[in-house]
Amino acid sequence: MDLLNTLVDKGLRREVPTRDEALAVLATTDDELLDVVAAAGKVRRAWFGRRVKLNYLVNLKSGLCPEDCSYCSQRLGSKAEILKYTWLKPDDASKAAAAGVAGGAKRVCLVASGRGPTDKDVDRVSQTIAAIKEQNEGVEICACLGLLDNGQAERLRAAGADAYNHNLNTSEATYGDICTTHDFSDRVETVQQAQAAGMSACSGLIAGMGESDADLVDVVFALRELDPDSVPVNFLIPFEGTPLAKEWNLTPQRCLRILAMVRFVCPDVEVRLAGGREVHLRSLQPLALHLVNSIFLGDYLTSEGQAGKDDLAMIADAGFEVEGADTTTLPAHRRPTEAGTDAADAVPDAADAEPETAGAAPAEEARRALVAVRRRGAGTDLPPNA
Ligand code: SF4
Repeated sequence: MDLLNTLVDKGLRREVPTRDEALAVLATTDDELLDVVAAAGKVRRAWFGRRVKLNYLVNLKSGLCPEDCSYCSQRLGSKAEILKYTWLKPDDASKAAAAGVAGGAKRVCLVASGRGPTDKDVDRVSQTIAAIKEQNEGVEICACLGLLDNGQAERLRAAGADAYNHNLNTSEATYGDICTTHDFSDRVETVQQAQAAGMSACSGLIAGMGESDADLVDVVFALRELDPDSVPVNFLIPFEGTPLAKEWNLTPQRCLRILAMVRFVCPDVEVRLAGGREVHLRSLQPLALHLVNSIFLGDYLTSEGQAGKDDLAMIADAGFEVEGADTTTLPAHRRPTEAGTDAADAVPDAADAEPETAGAAPAEEARRALVAVRRRGAGTDLPPNA
C-alpha cells in the first residue's frame, strides 16, 4: 500500500503524517491489518529494536476523588467496588515497588487519586521516592498526582522524580463530555509544568469512550505537539458502577489500528500499552508488541492485569526482550530530557453509574468477566502481582 510505505518513510524520518494519513490507518480493513502492523513494526524496531520496557504501577491513594472523570472508578460518587485507602506509608509503597522491580520493571509509577496534590502530599511523595530509590538502585520514578500548582513540579524533580504523567485522554473538543471539573487546558498546562521543571513528560489517551476517529487523531496530534517522551495508550475498561460501563466499543483489531496510528504519529516516543490490554486485545496482545515498546507489568490501579509471569512469557514467546536497567529507553536525540515518564492513569476505572447485569449478550458477559477489581498488592495484605 502506498499509504503504508509513506508512513514508514515518514516514521523513520520523524516526520509528522497528515491527518488524512492518520485517519486512513484507522479506516484500514481487517484484510489489511497485518500489513499495518508490519509497517508500524518497522518504525518501532528502527527506534527501539525489540526491547520492551516494563513499568509498574503503585496506587498510593485509591478512590474518593472529588473530580468527575466519567471513565474513572475512583471518581466522586463511584459505585465501583474498588479498594479505597488513603496515602500508603513510604515503606509500604517501597515494598510494593520492589516487587515490580524484582519482576523486571525499570520504572515505578506512583499514582494518587485526586484533583492534585497539596504541598503536604508532595512532601509525602518525596519521602516515598526517597524510600524507593534507596532500596532499588537505578529505578526510574514517575509521579502521577493530578494537576500541579506552581512550584510543585520543581519540588518533585528535586525529590528525585524522573518523570511526571498526566494524560490528555481525549480530544479538546470532546473533553467536556468526559469531565466537567477540570478542562483540557488544565491538563496541557500540568504537562508543560513538568517539562519546564526538567521531568520527562508522559501523557497519553484513553480509547473506547465513544469518540470518533477524528477525536482520536486530534488527541494524538495534540500529544505530538506537546512532545512528551512517553505516550500511554489506554483502552477503556468499562467498570460496572461507572457512567461508561456500557461502552464496549473496541475490538482487538481496532486496538491494533489505534496503536499503529499512534506509532506513526509519535514514531520515536515510548508508546506504552496501558490499561485495557488484556480486556480488549485478548489473544492478540502479542501482536501489539510490534507496535509499542513499553507495557505495564502485572496489575493496574484498580483492576487486575494478567499475571506478571505471563507478561514475561508473552514477551519472550513473541521474540522480544525485556529492556534492562542499563539500557536507555529513548533514542539518542531525545535523551537530553530523558528520565522517566509516565505513570499513571492507566487504567480507566470506574465511577458512578448504575450497574447493569441482566440481559447481557454472551459475548458481553465474557468480556465483563475480564474486568476484575484489584484485590491484591498495594493497600491490601496480599502480595502484589509482579
Ligand atoms: S482520573 Fe484522576 S482526577 Fe479523574 S476522577 Fe479519576 S482519580 Fe480523580
